Amino acid sequence: MRGDDAEAELWARALDLVRLHQIESDADTGPLFTNPPPDSNPEVLTRLRQMYEAGGWVLVESAIADLPADLRWLFESDAVTIEQLSTIHRALGVTSAADLAAAVREQTLRALPGLDLAVETAVGAALPTLRARIPRIPLGRAVSLAEMVLEPLRAVPGVAWAMPVGSLRRGQDTVGDIEILAPTDQPAAAIDALLSLPASSHVLHRSERRLYVLTDRVQIGVRLPGTANAGADLLHLTGSSAHFDALRAHATAAGWTLKADGLHASDGTFTPAATEGDIYAALGLQAMPPEIRNGGEEVALASRGALPTLVARGDIRGDLHMHSVWSDGRDTIEAMVEACRTLGYEYMAMTDHSPHSAASRNLTLDGVKQQAEEIARLREQYPDITILHGCEVDILPNGRLDFADKVLEELDIVLASLHERAGHAPEQLMKRYASAMKHPLVTLITHPTNRILPSRRGYDLDYDRLFGMAVDTGTVVEIDGSPAHLDMDGGLARRAIAAGVTVSINSDCHRAEMLGRQMDLGVVTARRGWVEPRHVLNTRSVADVRSVVAAKRGSR
Ligand SMILES: [Zn+2]
Ligand SMILES: [Zn+2]
Repeated sequence: MRGDDAEAELWARALDLVRLHQIESDADTGPLFTNPPPDSNPEVLTRLRQMYEAGGWVLVESAIADLPADLRWLFESDAVTIEQLSTIHRALGVTSAADLAAAVREQTLRALPGLDLAVETAVGAALPTLRARIPRIPLGRAVSLAEMVLEPLRAVPGVAWAMPVGSLRRGQDTVGDIEILAPTDQPAAAIDALLSLPASSHVLHRSERRLYVLTDRVQIGVRLPGTANAGADLLHLTGSSAHFDALRAHATAAGWTLKADGLHASDGTFTPAATEGDIYAALGLQAMPPEIRNGGEEVALASRGALPTLVARGDIRGDLHMHSVWSDGRDTIEAMVEACRTLGYEYMAMTDHSPHSAASRNLTLDGVKQQAEEIARLREQYPDITILHGCEVDILPNGRLDFADKVLEELDIVLASLHERAGHAPEQLMKRYASAMKHPLVTLITHPTNRILPSRRGYDLDYDRLFGMAVDTGTVVEIDGSPAHLDMDGGLARRAIAAGVTVSINSDCHRAEMLGRQMDLGVVTARRGWVEPRHVLNTRSVADVRSVVAAKRGSR
């Protein structure tokens, strides 16, 4: 291969030719040479013939590389031949694992020409591992990528709404794929708008109501169903598959059949569902927040009307963890204050890093004093928001804090964290947390597992013991909305509130423009942990926050 532009151009034209003539195997390629299409470029044909003689496989492989990822991996799993994959794709229009799962569940694959029960079974067996080789995308990155498509889509006339589905809508901390649902009765306008986006330079699949593109090495799929039954599409594609299975069982018990396209009555009548709420209501269920659709107990609770009201962004009255240029933040305190006012917060805490944190820049002892003066000036300038002067102090290897008590005493709130990379043995880490939590000046433990998504796993500690200590000492534990942390995650947060821990949802933001986004990520993560407003410190007034700080300080 020459690997230059001319080579790439030849490849592209050869592929166009293959697509145009729906060539899927060597057998289809032969006729192209004996009977070339009238306006085909001779150089392209020669190139094709070379590839053909070298093994038509090369062609097939490159065509497969250009399929939506789930179909590519289905083929790699050996469950189907390329001909069978092509039949499935063409006959059913499937483009993702969710479509394949529905086809297996509804037994439609076995009836297609060239397929049978054995193939259907093989596809079903391959499904759980289909995504194993696709790298998962951290939630924060997925949200940003989806935003590039969501905003322009919402502006297209005829698009009723646009929303992510799948693990992205459920707010999972890493996301398997980015799929967007945008119901419209004029799909052509939406396709045109999408194709004009810079993100759409590499198209993987395009049909009347679907478009899959590859952007920044990530696949984004957009579905444009009709508006009349969009609620059923949203419900099915949001999943999780365990939740959908639990719903199906509930529907069956109530005399309905729930399929990917919605609810079918026992007499065969079908009523379209414009919203998810239509289906939940028909089943006698409370509508369920996407973040808790795990196929656990949510369906049973919803049937008794016993689902909790989860914390929402609107409940958040302040942000207690953020950084400025005094440590490794990008913006001044003033810029952070202004952004917090724009978000409508009643209060905020400025909490830069202490000297021994692993951050690129840290707050010095002298810096704390200067910062206090700056904050005093800003308090006069911005009387409509309470600015708390705080610090995210490191818990040193010996369990002591990285600033002397007399420095910390002057602050309104003290957050404590480990920033150890290599890390101590779990028992030692636990001792450090324990001594920080016992310290009367420490109100809050930040990002307690200290994981970095997607590369670094969190500490493997006995968190139930840690939560017990938090309750005993009156220490708050954080759900950190930084896209790299999302720590505690939903599972841990749920254990924390069950243990009686008060949590705080913070942005841990280093840039003013990200304050809102990171708070959103924190709230979504909390919702995955079934967290309600009453469990959260910063849904309360600043007076209440101050009394939590004071209560622990008074315990000395
Ligand atoms: Zn930190
Ligand atoms: Zn921080």
